[in-house]
Amino acid sequence: MSGLEGILIWIDNNSRFMKMRIGGEEIQGADERWLQVINPATGEEIDRVPNGTLYEVDDAVKAAEAAFSSWASRSARERGIILFRCAARVREHHSDLARTLTMEQGKPLKDAVDEVRGFANVLEYYAALSSSLTGDYLPLGPSGDAVILREPLGVCGAIIPWNMPALLMGWKVAPALVAGNTMVFKPASQTPLTSLTLVRMMEEAGLPPGTLNVVTGKGDVVGEALVRHPDIQKISFTGDVETGMRVQELAAGSFKSVTLELGGSDPMIVWKDADIEKAVAGAVRGRYYNAGQTCTAVKRLYVHQSIGEEFVHRLKAKVERLTVGNGLSPDVDMGPLSGASQRDRIQKFVETMQNHGQGIVLTGGVPLSGPAYDGGFFYAPTVVTDVHPESPLLSKEVFGPVLPVMCIPDLDTAICHANNTRFGLGASVWTRDLSVAKEVFSRVRSGVVWVNRHLTLPPEIPFGGLKVSGTGRENGMDGLLSYTRTRSLFLGW
Ligand code: NAD
Repeated sequence: MSGLEGILIWIDNNSRFMKMRIGGEEIQGADERWLQVINPATGEEIDRVPNGTLYEVDDAVKAAEAAFSSWASRSARERGIILFRCAARVREHHSDLARTLTMEQGKPLKDAVDEVRGFANVLEYYAALSSSLTGDYLPLGPSGDAVILREPLGVCGAIIPWNMPALLMGWKVAPALVAGNTMVFKPASQTPLTSLTLVRMMEEAGLPPGTLNVVTGKGDVVGEALVRHPDIQKISFTGDVETGMRVQELAAGSFKSVTLELGGSDPMIVWKDADIEKAVAGAVRGRYYNAGQTCTAVKRLYVHQSIGEEFVHRLKAKVERLTVGNGLSPDVDMGPLSGASQRDRIQKFVETMQNHGQGIVLTGGVPLSGPAYDGGFFYAPTVVTDVHPESPLLSKEVFGPVLPVMCIPDLDTAICHANNTRFGLGASVWTRDLSVAKEVFSRVRSGVVWVNRHLTLPPEIPFGGLKVSGTGRENGMDGLLSYTRTRSLFLGW
């Protein structure tokens, strides 16, 4: 093989280590050039990936540039057909992929299966939208006519966190590729294996080499090199608010277009007429799914005081029935946190609250250790009541299984509390009364408002935050158009 055929770092099934191919050459080793991937349920190393540098980023960008004109010159429908094939291959291998996802990220296998299928679903959604990607023709009277051309941006960069390595990858890769761009993709250093396997499968299903390139490595090296790179036209970033600010700042140096999907502190409002059983189930799923490590998790719960006692009683009982353990074991409802530092951060939130007398732990509130927990980073599903309005549990993003519950006397108070953070990602209201739902939608400042649901994010719905939760939208037609630009041709007759 000769020349740059794409940089793809992939898992070799015959080897414990991974190999990196640059321009057809394989490099293999086990020194400081490699990053450990740890299973958070056991604390053990499961694999290693290359610790990428500026050079790999540059090579990957060159490979993506080399692949661009051929990929962009295909019709959008043809690109869509290739994505349909990729989705079919991912569906065929979903159980192996889900196992890899659980082992590196921790979520229960059934949730990992859903996430992998979610990735295929996003590919299919954008593949089906491919023929809607059109320009326009405008007759402008005697002076002339105009043709509006919609074209891809070029090489795009994408950076994702560790909490949803398959789904978040789909949200970026699918619209970018259907629109005719090529991409350099950086997974989180904790969870690169699922992304690498997905890219490899997509190439096997017909995605031309160089179209989608992965560089693994650390955020401050590989991530920053991508954001700064002068030949990358757009960066789509998902992660923490502070990192997002840094990305925005760095991208300004080369006038890149930037989409930022950042943190959230979603409120859930349970009105007095709500179906309590349904709302309790929604709160449990909304907070403890993925061990609470989801941007749109229910992070604050406001329940009307007339049903508060019954609601909290049922909530506590349901939370105490959750089974915590290694996601590979059958019947586990909640896996570990992503690492020791994440677990310690959650414990600190709870301890600070207790030390300042700012709330009462109703259940949980401790890390889980001992033989049953196998050396992993587990934390007990926790419910906290009587939380002081000034507690950091309400103002900061708590990325773990701790649910603060507050009783509220009226809707106005609930809405004021809901808006009282710097975040504006999602919010939900649980009610049978349409006027209550409308009031919450019009007054709560968040990118999405659910009624009698939380967390559901089908690819049809544009998604993104207000306030510090981000700028730009992913998913839906908005997501596709964000990977394109228009150019206009004026025809004077
Ligand atoms: P993070 O910002 O630390 O890391 C995210 C990614 O950015 C990783 O790949 C990391 O390596 C990279 N990175 C780190 N520093 C960088 C830098 N200086 N320049 C460029 N890239 C850099 O976030 P995290 O802790 O991994 O993820 C959790 C956060 O992500 C939470 O705040 C969560 O709410 C948010 N999130 C948001 C959404 C959304 O759609 N809004 C979805 C999932 C997670």
